[in-house]
Amino acid sequence: MKFIDEFRQGDLARTLAGAIAAEADPARSYHIMEFCGGHTHAIFRYGLQDLVPDNVRFVHGPGCPVCVLPIGRIDGAMALAEAHDVILCSYGDMLRVPASGRRSLMKAKAEGADIRMVYSTQDALRIARDNPGRQVVFFAIGFETTTPPTVVAIRQARAEGLANFSVYCNHVLTPAAIQNILSSPEVRDMGTVSIDGFLGPSHVSAIIGSQPYEFFAEEFQRPVVIAGFEPLDVMQSALMVIRQLNEGRYEVENEYTRVVTREGNPKAKALVAEVLEMRRTFEWRGLGLVPYSGLRIKADYAEFDAEARFTIPEQRVDDVKGCECPAILRGVKRPTDCKLFGTVCTPENPMGSCMVSSEGACAAYWSYGRFREAAAATPGYAVS
Ligand code: SF4
Repeated sequence: MKFIDEFRQGDLARTLAGAIAAEADPARSYHIMEFCGGHTHAIFRYGLQDLVPDNVRFVHGPGCPVCVLPIGRIDGAMALAEAHDVILCSYGDMLRVPASGRRSLMKAKAEGADIRMVYSTQDALRIARDNPGRQVVFFAIGFETTTPPTVVAIRQARAEGLANFSVYCNHVLTPAAIQNILSSPEVRDMGTVSIDGFLGPSHVSAIIGSQPYEFFAEEFQRPVVIAGFEPLDVMQSALMVIRQLNEGRYEVENEYTRVVTREGNPKAKALVAEVLEMRRTFEWRGLGLVPYSGLRIKADYAEFDAEARFTIPEQRVDDVKGCECPAILRGVKRPTDCKLFGTVCTPENPMGSCMVSSEGACAAYWSYGRFREAAAATPGYAVS
């Protein structure tokens, strides 16, 4: 398949692995954070960590959209469905993310709340049209990639006069999160987390372009390479990060030129700017309150803002005791550092958000990596 098969060729992967091994300086280490859950998934699925030398490490970042939403916002969505008797529409993964009291939207649905899984904002609009006597709320989550469809739905609802449709807006912004990670004490002061460079987001960058990363590449002296999601994209991008570090350069480079430009998608950006505005602060799981990192609906579109239409409880809630998701999302720990991994917590019974989506680090470890580390420690084990 075009744009798929040519980016999964084994012989090219071996050539890139050889180039990385040749150019990575054995006297130093390279810690490369992949921001996106899609990259985390590709790294585990294709065993890319095994193809690079030991001193090149992929560090998993907070780029899984369902992973970073704090429990308090899921509790808010549940309250909408239960206390306000709305039809709550949500993407599938979100239904399984644990909320307060070991509950989830899935459990609330089983107990009678009208919570419906949708594949797109258009599904939510259709449900609103089909149920004129009920309030329908779309539980909007995700990074800059999923924001434009939410905005289109709001504009469409206004154009159609759909008075029973509103959005519980939880969209978040990538550059603010990366900047927050780089400013954290673990990275900046204590040095307990090494992040030498970034694989920049793919689909997010298709919307916002590569330009927004230029500030912190220079300010924090970390190279950023916008990387596609296929295994050869990730290998090529890792090589580009290593080259920059070897040459003392801290620039934004774009490996994913078949999709991403420096300016991004101006039409999508204009639509988002018309309907949404930045919140002063927004809570992220793992990162805490991050300034100017979330979006809300502008006053001009307040009739479609579920937070203006309903009273939604707002409170900060701690993660499940023992769950290391917050540390994993900051790159401080790995899934196997969590005592619950693979015992109490599995994809069938997730204790934290990182075990729910296939883009979550714990779910990716579980699916593709849980035997790899044990095997690698076995005498005679070799990656072919
Ligand atoms: S294994 Fe489960 S409990 Fe542990 S960090 Fe991952 S999601 Fe949280």
